[in-house]
Amino acid sequence: MRSMEKTVYLDNNATTRVAPEVREAMLPFFGELYGNPSSMHAFGGKVAAHVERAREEVARFLNCSPEEIVFTSCATESDNTAIRGAADWFGRGLKVVTTAVEHPAVLQPVRRLKAQGHETVELPVDSVGQIDLDRLTAEIDSAKAAKRPVLVSAMWANNETGTLFPIEKVAEICRSRGAILHTDAVQVAGKIPVDVKKVPVDLLAMSGHKFHAPKGIGLLYVRKGTKAKPFMLGGHQESGRRAGTENVPYIVGLAKACELARLGMADEAAKLTALRDRLESGILASCPDVRVNGDRANRLPNTLNVSFEYIEGEAIAYRLSDLGICISTGSACASGSLDPSHVIRAMGVPFTAVHGSVRFSLSRYTTDADIDYVLKHLPPVVRGLRELSPFGPDKDVSTFK
Ligand code: PLP
Repeated sequence: MRSMEKTVYLDNNATTRVAPEVREAMLPFFGELYGNPSSMHAFGGKVAAHVERAREEVARFLNCSPEEIVFTSCATESDNTAIRGAADWFGRGLKVVTTAVEHPAVLQPVRRLKAQGHETVELPVDSVGQIDLDRLTAEIDSAKAAKRPVLVSAMWANNETGTLFPIEKVAEICRSRGAILHTDAVQVAGKIPVDVKKVPVDLLAMSGHKFHAPKGIGLLYVRKGTKAKPFMLGGHQESGRRAGTENVPYIVGLAKACELARLGMADEAAKLTALRDRLESGILASCPDVRVNGDRANRLPNTLNVSFEYIEGEAIAYRLSDLGICISTGSACASGSLDPSHVIRAMGVPFTAVHGSVRFSLSRYTTDADIDYVLKHLPPVVRGLRELSPFGPDKDVSTFK
């Protein structure tokens, strides 16, 4: 077994390390501040005040009002609540338009609605993972012509490639036509500014563990007046919009993560872009037959998705794992299956490259030394796997499909 003296963690789109400041902020709520924020007594009221302060901090992060924030258990719950909540409000008449490259937390509830008789559309993407805005407009217009409500669910940034959708334009199109817009903003939070006044979405999902808060806390921004029914039914928490006793320590942690991101984002984005670009150019310079997946001109600062032709992404990830380097193939939710990523396939990446895609995702804790370490160890791994591969530029693959 490998000695675990070094870990280079480049899988931050899967999850991130909890920031020490976040952990510190949470601790009192595992100790003396254990009251239930819904309780009548002052002991509970003291805790409720911390929840409301956290809500204010999160609202400042998104530039919205605190009443528009609903705390959830994760972004999967937020996405489900947005999509199923709108469908519950409008019933079968609702048309749902989404994209082929969404996270399963969006695709699966949309497909469930389709099975239940809703009209749904999954917009295709081009070779860099972008949607056609004219097609989006036409899909909304055709429903509007029939006087039907429309929900658009389009992610802000893709978790696998980092491709940023032109969400301002999507919002403009939706707003001018009265369509409700939900965006899965899980991967942008903490990496680029998210301002719901500048980008007028109606529903927005975020997850704490993607930007240095713990796993198990998320939020749904619900613009005032948005028509959606609650998904979790029970008590009156979150003003009746999400039943269940609030996860107070994690809510406080999420707010701290928002504050850290708000204060540090500009510097971090510049640092991440420089590190990511150095990794990208180092790989391109040292490994032949490599392609960068996604829209390089419109991409998250921390994400690099590359396909190594003729070899398996899983094999690369396993070999790097033996060296202490953590990366992933496709999204964490899809890994474990050997099916190629639905995102990479939707972009029409050639057969010889589709299985060889891997994702490097950086965070504020990534260092120059981490990038050096990867650039030292990755090229020999790729060379070694290519020697073993039945595929290659000089190998006959005519019998493979
Ligand atoms: N949406 C996107 C784009 C994601 O990347 C993820 C997590 O990988 C999720 C939703 C689900 O988030 P959570 O783990 O908080 O349920």
